[in-house]
Amino acid sequence: MNIPFHVPYTDDSDIEAAVSAIKSGWTTMGPKTIEFEKSFAQYTGMPFSVAVSSCTAALHLALKVCGIGSGSEVIVPANTFVATAEVVLYCGATPVFADVDRDTHCISVDSIYRLLSPKTRAIIPVHFAGTPSAMDAILDIAAQHNLYVIEDAAHALPSWYGGKLAGTLGHAGCYSFYATKTLATGEGGMLVTRNEDWAQRAGRLRLHGMNRDAWKRYDRGGSWRYDIEEMGYKYNMTDIAAAMGLSQLKKVEMLQKKREAIASKYNDAFAASDALIPYSIKEGISAWHLYPLKINPEALTISRDEFIMKLEERGIKTSVHFIPLYRFSYFMNKYGNQEKYFQNCEWIFAREISLPIFPSMTDEQVDYVIESVLAIAQQFKR
Ligand SMILES: *Cc1c(COP(=O)(O)O)cnc(C)c1O
Repeated sequence: MNIPFHVPYTDDSDIEAAVSAIKSGWTTMGPKTIEFEKSFAQYTGMPFSVAVSSCTAALHLALKVCGIGSGSEVIVPANTFVATAEVVLYCGATPVFADVDRDTHCISVDSIYRLLSPKTRAIIPVHFAGTPSAMDAILDIAAQHNLYVIEDAAHALPSWYGGKLAGTLGHAGCYSFYATKTLATGEGGMLVTRNEDWAQRAGRLRLHGMNRDAWKRYDRGGSWRYDIEEMGYKYNMTDIAAAMGLSQLKKVEMLQKKREAIASKYNDAFAASDALIPYSIKEGISAWHLYPLKINPEALTISRDEFIMKLEERGIKTSVHFIPLYRFSYFMNKYGNQEKYFQNCEWIFAREISLPIFPSMTDEQVDYVIESVLAIAQQFKR
């Protein structure tokens, strides 16, 4: 059997939506993008949504509208995709890496406390794999120290924490519609906030700093006249992506249930082996963007890397989330070798294997992954 790591969920209605956007003659940001923003605001319950070209763009604009600039420090987990830290650098600010929790792989609250400095301006919690970060504690710290909380909700559509949607708990939330994410439009992202001024400014910054409706300038009623109020970026969404997004948004909960069912099968199956550490959720509901299995090296004669090769030999593609940021040569050159400060990131990195989890996975495929993982764990038992 050959099992890919991920297969995006695209049905005929998504394809028809994209085709109809192309046929409409308006392919860049336009009416579909506005409609998608409205639907997204409705779904999340947030008053303002700004559609952009990626979650990276959304995070960058969120930091900009909060006024993060040079001299500021922003605390981010070290176990994340590099975008979470790069956007801080785009602003001329300094990303400060925090260790993570061994169970959830989300940012460690103790670590945040240790890293607070007079320069700290914001925290970017990442809802790892869809697991909500410890938002109550993070929001408390932020309130005490006057910090902004920008949620990196790239994995969390939809995840719930205390009955609220992840991404709507902090000052701003950023979602990703990248090809492998839970709502996939190829590329795309969304910034949500309750702050109208921020939303309007982000709406301008995403299109070169043009005043909000300048995208209409080629429309019949539009005008060639526009103003640039400040330097912006080329971060707008396309109407093709927005049309796909509108179509997919209707299915996000149905797709979450499919992934949750797979995760629960994995958890049941792996609990019995002391060579494996299942990934269970103690608080809230996860989007299950990833299923992060961990192996127990003390109970095995092979390493995480060798375990991955054994799965590959059986036709199962996996991944690792994430290579801790301080391990990349860019950050190593900038900050030196920081491995010793990140005991939990290192502990997870030696153990983690992300297994295939996608809505169209068949029962046979799920069973095959389970059988293979258990067989390898058995074969290489210490
Ligand atoms: C994918 C991802 C991003 C970036 O999303 P893009 O839409 O590709 O820019 C940011 N943070 C995390 C945690 C991600 O996994």
